[in-house]
Parts: sequence; C-alpha cells; structure tokens
Amino acid sequence: MGQSFLRRHLLLILTIGSVVMGILVGFYLRRLNLDAQAKALVAFPGEMLMHMLKMMILPLIISSLISGLSQLDARQSGKMGSLAIIYYVSTTVLAVITGIILVLTIHPGDPTIKQNIGEGTEGKTVSTVDTMLDLVRNTFPENIVQATFQQVQTKYVVERPKIMRTNDPTMLAALNNGSLDIMRSTVEYVPGMNVLGVIVFCIAVGTVLSQLGEEANVMIQFFVILDKVIMKLVMTIMWYSPIGIMCLIAGKILEIQDLADTARMLAMYMVTVISGLVVHSLITLPLVFFVATKKNPFVFMRGLVQAWITALGTASSSATLPITYKCLEENLGVDRRVTRFVLPVGATINMDGTALYEAVAAIFIAQMNGVHLSFGQVVTVSLTATLASIGAASVPSAGLVTMLLVLTAVGLPVKDVSLIVAVDWMLDRIRTSINVLGDAFGAGIVHHYVAEDLIQHDAERRVSLKHP
Ligand code: ASP
Repeated sequence: MGQSFLRRHLLLILTIGSVVMGILVGFYLRRLNLDAQAKALVAFPGEMLMHMLKMMILPLIISSLISGLSQLDARQSGKMGSLAIIYYVSTTVLAVITGIILVLTIHPGDPTIKQNIGEGTEGKTVSTVDTMLDLVRNTFPENIVQATFQQVQTKYVVERPKIMRTNDPTMLAALNNGSLDIMRSTVEYVPGMNVLGVIVFCIAVGTVLSQLGEEANVMIQFFVILDKVIMKLVMTIMWYSPIGIMCLIAGKILEIQDLADTARMLAMYMVTVISGLVVHSLITLPLVFFVATKKNPFVFMRGLVQAWITALGTASSSATLPITYKCLEENLGVDRRVTRFVLPVGATINMDGTALYEAVAAIFIAQMNGVHLSFGQVVTVSLTATLASIGAASVPSAGLVTMLLVLTAVGLPVKDVSLIVAVDWMLDRIRTSINVLGDAFGAGIVHHYVAEDLIQHDAERRVSLKHP
C-alpha cells in the first residue's frame, strides 16, 4: 500500500519538495556571493519551465475552448457562462471587502515609513474610462493573429532611488552599499498576448460549431485531438516542473538584494495583504464552495496543491493554467467541458487575490500619505480594484500596473506605486496562487450545477446516434 501511495503521489511529493529545496538552495547559495552569470545559471531551468508553460498557453486556450464549447448546446454553455460570471463577480467583491476591512483595521501605512523609503518616479495616470474602453477594445481585437502576440503590457523596471531620507543605521548602511536599489521603479512596455481577445474569438467559433450539426464534425474532431495532444505535452512538462519550480524559487531568492530591510519596513503591509489572502482562501472561498455544493472544500483543495505550488513558482495564472486543468480533471473529476470553458475565462478575468491586493495597496498608499479617504472614496477603491483585477493580464506583476487605475481614481500619487514594488515579487506569487484557487473553486461549483444536464445531454446524444 505504501508503494502504491508513493507511486500515486510521487509528482505531488516532488513538487512540494521542490519548494523546500528551492528555499534551502537559494539561501545557501546567497551566502556564496555568486556572480551574475552563476545566478543566471541557477535560475535557468526555472526560466525553461516558464518557457514551456507559456508555449502551451495559446494552443491550450484555442483547442480547449473550441473543443469544449463545440460539444455543448447553447443552453448549457449559457448556463455555465452565467453561473461562472455570478461566481466571479461575487467572490471578487468579497475579496475586496475583506482587504478593505483588514487594511482599515490594521492600518499598516505610516507617513514616516514613506520618508524612509523615498520618493518614487513619475508614473502615468490612467483614467477609469480609458481602462474600460481598453478592456472592450481588447475583447474585440481588430486582427486575431496580431492579438496572439502584439498586445502591449506594462512591467516595472527597478532603478536606484535619488532621494532617500533616513536616520536608521541599518538603512544608511543599506543605502551606502546600494542594496536598496530596488526601491524605485518606472514603467516599461513589453510585448505580450491579448488573451481576452483570443478567448472571445474562440468562444464564438466553438459556439457556432456546436450549432452547425454534422458538417462541423471534422473540424470539431480536429480541435478535440489537438486538445488531447496538448494535454499529453502538459503531462510531460509536469514531470519537469519540480526542477523548474526549485530553480525559479532559488533564483528569485538569489536575485533579491535587500530581503531583510524591505521586509522590515513593509512588514505590516505584507502582513495585511497576506492575512487578507489567507482569510479569502481558507474561509471565504471554502464557505462559498460549501454553501453552493454541500461538499467538503478542503478535500477539493487537496486535489489542487500542484496547481497552487506552480502558481507560487511562476507568479502567473495563465502559465499555471495547464496544471490547473490537470488537477481539476484528473484529481477532482471535474467534467472536461466545464474546465475547458470556465478555466481560461477565469484565469483571465477572475483574480480575487489581485483585487484584494489592489484595494489594500491603494488604501495603504493613502495612509502613507496621511490622506484620510472618505466613505465614497473607499467605495471607489473597491469598484476600481475589481475593474483593475479584471483588466490585469495573468502574468507576473500585472496587478502592480493596473494599480495605477485605482490610485488615479481616488487622486493618490501614482508614483507611489514604487513604494510597494520592493515586496511585490513575493506578494505577486501568493496572490496568484489565490487567483488560481478562485478559478478552480469556480469550475468546481459550475460542475456541480451542470453535471446532471451534461449526463442527460450525453444520454440523448447516444440515443440519437443509435437512431439517427
Ligand atoms: N500575477 C497575477 C496572475 O497572474 C496577476 C497579478 O499581478 O496580480 O494572476
């Protein structure tokens, strides 16, 4: 029995082990003061894991959405879609409320900390209307091929601070040896993919195929087989992922310069964000799942450990997507037609962790500036944090960029995003894992409500095949 347990859970054990090993190896190698090239070599297998997972995203989204939807009738996909949207909106709002209650109660922002961290660089201001229009623009890309590679996303680039005031001896030493470089940041544009546009196009194609009848069979078969091929490739990547995750974590620990100093200054802020994420993942989401399905949410969560750890390692919901599929379908028996429809949409627009984080961070920045937000402004923060989480791409640090929208909406200085950049690498990983958990719970709930319809649909189909 011991042997079969090991065989069944080997991959999971290796994945959990990879996190522990990554932390140990990272801290051990930090003491050796490796040069830049050696650090890059340590991180290299992790970089390759990111490449492999990202390589899968486009074919996976296309094949899974089209094959999934083409096998559903319009009524079923409509039911799944509306259930998923109700779940996404309500859990995101709950996440934002949790974040706001915590940040107002703990009050982590202290104006004197801001003086110590220093001024940020100028950032661009973003209006809510612009963001809404961009969201709609991305939903209907003018060129679908271009949408797969030409969308621009922003990322933060870190540089040395110019102004820094402090009396703290540890901080002064850190300033002098340059280890606080990470405190300052600017925004840069990088190429990415318009996932939302691709998803909308695939949903449309899949739905039309489902209505075409027999003449569409060849094309449906094509996407079903493509989907199988991609999932087989994903399985191979999963066996490589423990090495990749270990190196991603070790590489990150080696790269961060001012681990202790920033952690000390922003400790209360981190505690607030992390407590919010813990409450959301261990209380709110399980409760919603239990109320909706009457099933044990913690048993469900056990089947998701691998996806959760991959999200911690990659800080990207879309890179984790292939693993989330595997966990839901193989460990938890969620119907493929549900995962194929609900997961890619969820990974793109449902980000509870990001929404919670954006609300906390915006109010934290207000507190750092000594600004008291009125009730109306807090409501504006919650609405824009929800919108910003929908608009955020499912890639590392995307939430930091859409923060600009929340800050602009309540008139806070957008340059102050740089105050929290230093710890974003860690919070990003944790919130991403909560984003993935939220998507997975969503798929579980939708499955619960449509499972019977799907069984009935399969039975009717079998009958109509026998008696055409
Ligand atoms: N990294 C997050 C994700 O992929 C998005 C964010 O930055 O909040 O889900």
